[in-house]
Amino acid sequence: MAPVLYIVVPCYNEQAVLPITAPLFLKKLGELAEKGLASPDSRLLFVDDGSRDASWDLISDMARRDARVLGIRQSRNRGHQNAVLAGLMEAKDRCDVTVSIDCDGQDDLDAMDRMLEAYAAGCDVVYGVREDRESDSFFKRTSAQAYYKLLAALGAEVVYNHADYRLISARVLRELENYREVNLYLRGLIPLVGFRSGTVSYKRAKRLAGESHYPLGKMLALAADGVTSLTVKPLRLITSFGILVALVSFIGVLWALITALCGRSVPGWASTTCIVCFVGGVQLISLGVIGEYVGKIYLETKQRPRYIISERTDSSEFRARDSE
Ligand code: UDP
Ligand code: MG
Repeated sequence: MAPVLYIVVPCYNEQAVLPITAPLFLKKLGELAEKGLASPDSRLLFVDDGSRDASWDLISDMARRDARVLGIRQSRNRGHQNAVLAGLMEAKDRCDVTVSIDCDGQDDLDAMDRMLEAYAAGCDVVYGVREDRESDSFFKRTSAQAYYKLLAALGAEVVYNHADYRLISARVLRELENYREVNLYLRGLIPLVGFRSGTVSYKRAKRLAGESHYPLGKMLALAADGVTSLTVKPLRLITSFGILVALVSFIGVLWALITALCGRSVPGWASTTCIVCFVGGVQLISLGVIGEYVGKIYLETKQRPRYIISERTDSSEFRARDSE
């Protein structure tokens, strides 16, 4: 029997693009059911990440008109990763398989067919991988590629050029639920859960409408989350670097002693200043990196909820569940 599919779509201030992409998603659901890749009971689940525009009204309106559309609303904006997680956790007990996808039409919907074929062939996770990044700006492209390489060099397991367009089966989601970290970086977390996985490549298009919500600051924050949630290698690198600096300064001390003994000691103001500045800089950077991890520990120990759902669309499915 064809699996029940939930397409999970995070939306944040997307009133410009929702009316364009929602019909495309629904059309895709129809096609997948026709091909026998997904059950006709499959659903489109929108997660409104505390939008301040008319996104939620649009979602509720769609849900009223089409029983295949469901929506949940976060109590406030919590960020893309948490929105995806909220949707996945909401979906996991009602479906066999989920596909998460951005709502801006950048990800090729036709790749879903191949994802479901891979699922039918036994994969529990199928990563959508971008073939090229021509649609991204030069800066975004190069910085993203450098970042993937950095993560790989630090020993974190991530799928190169994969964002958050992926298929995950319900049983993987039930395991993912046990990963309780607040510092959420799904791209890095899902490979850790394991199970058989595959990849599907696709061409990433430009946003159909609206604007990106990932300005430089948010991108850097996500990048830092990625590193600190996946690996402690930077802490070890600091130790190694500290040892190296200590060794070099030891050689410097030896050299100073020898020149002094030879009676050739020079006033040495410049060299002293250089060393003090250098070591000071290294210490500050090191403290910063350690601070980053300590901050993350602080956040984790609070064990705050990762998402709070404030509203659900008035669908019979949700009502049936709430009255259970
Ligand atoms: N998004 C979200 N919460 C946020 C920011 C973004 O749910 O705080 C959603 C957004 O609506 C979109 C997806 O995450 O569906 C990816 O965002 P965007 O397209 O702005 O990022 P980009 O593709 O430019 O990296
Ligand atoms: Mg986008």
